[in-house]
Amino acid sequence: MNVILVGPPGAGKGTQAAVLEEKTKLKHVASGDLFRQHMLNETPLGLQARSFVSRGELVPDDIVIGMILDRVFQPDCSRGVIFDGFPRTQEQAQALAHALQLHHKTLDAVVFLSAPRDTLLKRIVGRQTCRTCQTPYNLYYNPSREEGMCDLCNGTLYTRPDDNLETARHRLDVYMAQTMPLIEHYRSLGLLHEVDGLGDVHEVTARVVQQLGLASTEAEEHCLTQP
Ligand code: AMP
Repeated sequence: MNVILVGPPGAGKGTQAAVLEEKTKLKHVASGDLFRQHMLNETPLGLQARSFVSRGELVPDDIVIGMILDRVFQPDCSRGVIFDGFPRTQEQAQALAHALQLHHKTLDAVVFLSAPRDTLLKRIVGRQTCRTCQTPYNLYYNPSREEGMCDLCNGTLYTRPDDNLETARHRLDVYMAQTMPLIEHYRSLGLLHEVDGLGDVHEVTARVVQQLGLASTEAEEHCLTQP
């Protein structure tokens, strides 16, 4: 099974993809995380991507497509992938469709997560992550007990450089202009599942699981383990 999570920055794609990865055998692949890793390691790809990411612009298609296709046909992705943050343009969507076809794989569902713009901005600008254990916090919705410090491991919390208000606004505009058209494309293919991204993580997960029909699978598995 291959699933795409699409939606604006701050919609909760990363959070839901991580939960889905736990619930399924699918591998969570996040293009933004891959770029941040490349930038941290100062690889040639990271150096190419840095100025685009810091300005909230999309990294050029050829760079993104190469990076993702290299990643998702590795053995640990053979059971299927949860795509988080990719594709973001028509060209990326076409490249993915073509590559899946070449590998005799299918795209099974596209989950469109959305939330109002003011919520998205608060989620983005308030986002903090523990440098040590990666636990996510939010200054508005889920602050740490002590400012700047992780409740679980006392690690330092950091804010992504592109999570400032100005860049966040621009990222939302870029999303509207370049990624929104993909929603209609996937709707026309009959693959789109629209999910309200408002609410706490568990509520949204329940909606995603229901849309993907995973709830019944879990219930059936549970039945099979009962006498
Ligand atoms: P994200 O973590 O998904 O918010 O992505 C952070 C940044 O990485 C974006 O603002 C872009 O600069 C870049 N990026 C991530 N995924 C893509 C993509 N599919 N196409 C182009 N740029 C991307």
